[in-house]
Amino acid sequence: MKQLNLYLLGAPGSGKGTQTARIQSHLNIASISTGALLRESSQYAEIMRRGGLVPDSAVMELVTAEIVKPAYAAGVVLDGSPRNVEQAQDIDLLFARYGRTPLLAIFLEVPLDVLRARLLGRLSCTRKGCGTVYHQITSPPKRDGLCDACDAALFVRNDDTDAAITTRLKAYSRSTAPLQDFYTRRSRCYRVDGSQAPDNVFNQLSIFLEKLHVA
Ligand code: AMP
Repeated sequence: MKQLNLYLLGAPGSGKGTQTARIQSHLNIASISTGALLRESSQYAEIMRRGGLVPDSAVMELVTAEIVKPAYAAGVVLDGSPRNVEQAQDIDLLFARYGRTPLLAIFLEVPLDVLRARLLGRLSCTRKGCGTVYHQITSPPKRDGLCDACDAALFVRNDDTDAAITTRLKAYSRSTAPLQDFYTRRSRCYRVDGSQAPDNVFNQLSIFLEKLHVA
């Protein structure tokens, strides 16, 4: 099968992690979440706690080290990278260098008020490789503080605070939103309404995947 390289483009809280997990299990391709990888080390913890973006060089180092692994030979879902035009250009060059097919962007469109409400009640699974996301009010876990999928403990991310959310949404508008234009001009952008329930969003995504003859 043709190699499939997907990038979920969207603001914090747009459902990138949730849809990445679904695509991953549906198509059996691995994902790279730079946010999750960065949370494993303390090097950029302070920038991240405040909601800022870590330096491009650090992100590209992580993506470059990951993408050469055999796990990504059939394809990859990038969750959270690229975050700006410079990273998008670097990732295009990186993929070309390794003979990978170009990255296709899926833009999860969600209004600002919905994003805030989602982020403020979010609970995330602590287990590496699971990362299932819940919401204290709209989609609570069956057992308090425990992941339905893998039984691991849930936590509130330290950047899901009011102040950090404001900074992250600003960083998104300034640096990441221009990527819609970047990928649209290259005919590599597909839009879905990300404000709907996760199942409905995934149904829209499946239509796109069917068109690519991979679903
Ligand atoms: P995420 O889990 O994707 O929401 O990312 C959490 C945090 O990690 C972000 O707020 C940034 O501080 C950092 N981060 C993740 N990916 C990137 C990236 N591609 N460029 C810069 N910072 C990133």
